[in-house]
Amino acid sequence: MKSDKIVIANWKMKLNLAQTVDLAKKIKTKFKNFNKGELAICPNFISLLEVGKILKDTNIALGAQDVFWEELGAYTGEISASMLVEAGCSYVIVGHSERRQFLMENYEMIHKEIKAVLAQEDLTPIVCIGENWEERKTDRRDFVLFDQLQQALSGLNIVGDQKIIIAYEPIWAIGSGTAIEPAEAEYAHKIIKLTLNDMFGMKTVDNNFKIIYGGSINSENVKGFTNLENMDGLLVGGASLDANEFYKVASAILK
Ligand code: PEP
Repeated sequence: MKSDKIVIANWKMKLNLAQTVDLAKKIKTKFKNFNKGELAICPNFISLLEVGKILKDTNIALGAQDVFWEELGAYTGEISASMLVEAGCSYVIVGHSERRQFLMENYEMIHKEIKAVLAQEDLTPIVCIGENWEERKTDRRDFVLFDQLQQALSGLNIVGDQKIIIAYEPIWAIGSGTAIEPAEAEYAHKIIKLTLNDMFGMKTVDNNFKIIYGGSINSENVKGFTNLENMDGLLVGGASLDANEFYKVASAILK
C-alpha cells in the first residue's frame, strides 16, 4: 500500500532564484522514479513560478511559505491564498515560528490565514505549532500545544475533504542540529491528536488532518521517526537544501 505520509521541504530565505532553480532541478532528477507518499517543496515567493514549471508533470507539489488573510486590496507586500493557487501552489506554511519570532505573527493572525487558505478548494495549510525552550523547561508544553491549536483552529468549519496539516515544530529544535527524541515527538503528537479529536471529532481528524514533525531532521536521525504513532510525515528545513540528503530523509519516511 502506498504511504499516505508527506515530506515537505522548507527552503526559507536560504537560496536566491538561481540557486532555487538549480536545487529544484536536482531534486526533480533525484526523485524521478520516486512514487511513494507525498512530497512538497516550499521555495521563496519569487521562485514559485519557475519552480512550478520545473515540477510540472512530477509527483512533487509546490508550496509557499506564507500567506495573507485578505483576498485583494491595499496590503502592500502581501500575497493572498488565491494568488498562491494561481502560482500553482497546493500547500502553504502558516505561522512558522520564524514569522512569529521576527514578524510578530500571532495566532489571531494565523487563524485568519488558515481561514483564507481553507476558502480555496485546492490549497492545504501547514499550520506550525510548538513550544519554546522556556515553555518546555517549565513543563508547559502540553498546555502550549493545546492553546495554540485552540487559537488557530477554533470555530473553523472543516468540510468535505479539505485537508489541514499540523506541523509540530518545537522552536528550540529548529535549526539547532538536534532533533527532539522520537518518543517525545510521539508524545507531543498524541497530545495534538487528542486535542484535535476533542475539537473536531475523531472521524474528521482521521479524514482531514495530518500531524507532521519538524526540527533538525536529517538522514542520520530520521530513522527514529519512521514508525511512530500519529506521525504522518516531516517538515524539513536544512536537510532539504541538498538533493541527496533530502532524498535520504524522504525515502526513509515514505515507503
Ligand atoms: C523548519 O524551520 O521548518 C525546519 C524544520 O527547519 P530545520 O529542519 O532546519 O530545523
